[in-house]
Amino acid sequence: MILFRKGDELKKYLIAKTGQGLNIGFVPTMGALHEGHLSLIRAAKERSDLVVSSIFVNPTQFNDQQDYLHYPKTIDQDILALEKSACDILFMPDVKEIYPDNYLPLSYDLGFLETVLEGKFRPGHFQGVCQVVDRMLEIVTPGLLFLGQKDYQQCMVIERLIQLKHPSTRLLIVPTMREKNGLAMSSRNLRLSTTDRVKAEAIYKGLMKIKAQLQQGTLQQLCEEVSNDLLDAGFEKVDYISISHATTLAPVNEWDGKTPLVALAAAFISGVRLIDNIPLT
Ligand code: AMP
Repeated sequence: MILFRKGDELKKYLIAKTGQGLNIGFVPTMGALHEGHLSLIRAAKERSDLVVSSIFVNPTQFNDQQDYLHYPKTIDQDILALEKSACDILFMPDVKEIYPDNYLPLSYDLGFLETVLEGKFRPGHFQGVCQVVDRMLEIVTPGLLFLGQKDYQQCMVIERLIQLKHPSTRLLIVPTMREKNGLAMSSRNLRLSTTDRVKAEAIYKGLMKIKAQLQQGTLQQLCEEVSNDLLDAGFEKVDYISISHATTLAPVNEWDGKTPLVALAAAFISGVRLIDNIPLT
């Protein structure tokens, strides 16, 4: 695996590789890698000639400074895991490399998507996500971009960014990897105690309950029930439990039995905010 720290050096290297006819698959991450990330690397390996991954904890997507400061870092382990997964290139820039002094923060027209769910509870988050992914796509110019379904709304947002600015990149969404008890793997799980990790399975159980009990008609009561189930299980705060349109993410309160749906959740346990989702149809 080759390590790059400078965007212009990586870009030059990749332009030469693309010129030789190689397809580039890109897996951006914030590090503290787990099996979920590695499943993206494997998916990229299957479909591309050259797999590029990045590790960069992007300051502009954190609306909570404490969350940014406490974001887990396991760089040595990450490098070993990427090498074992046969990742070809690791891009590990520092903040100034992505946001140089002359960087003008861009603003992206994300429309309705930015006003709901994560957009509503984490103001500015998706603008920050677009800023970093836009910069990364400019540098890497991959044919394929691999993102995890775990961050469902982020996938919809990046699909829009691609339409707006990077039409030669195609997005592939990789299914969520879970622990045995159903808890979605996440770097933030490193901040949970063993007991909290057990309690946190309530998120997956709640989403599965929605899937099992879904029927045509009013959905609001089901969401409220699951929200209460999370509080009973030990979550201290639920930002949302939502049943939404699978692509626009508009909340669906009354279901016609046909509209494609996804159930999404965000809740806090011991100060750690977890998100998860399950496509319903
Ligand atoms: P992050 O490092 O959390 O920014 O995640 C980097 C990429 O890994 C994103 O595309 C995530 O959606 C994806 N990812 C995170 N957790 C999982 C998981 N449990 N299963 C599959 N992909 C994941």
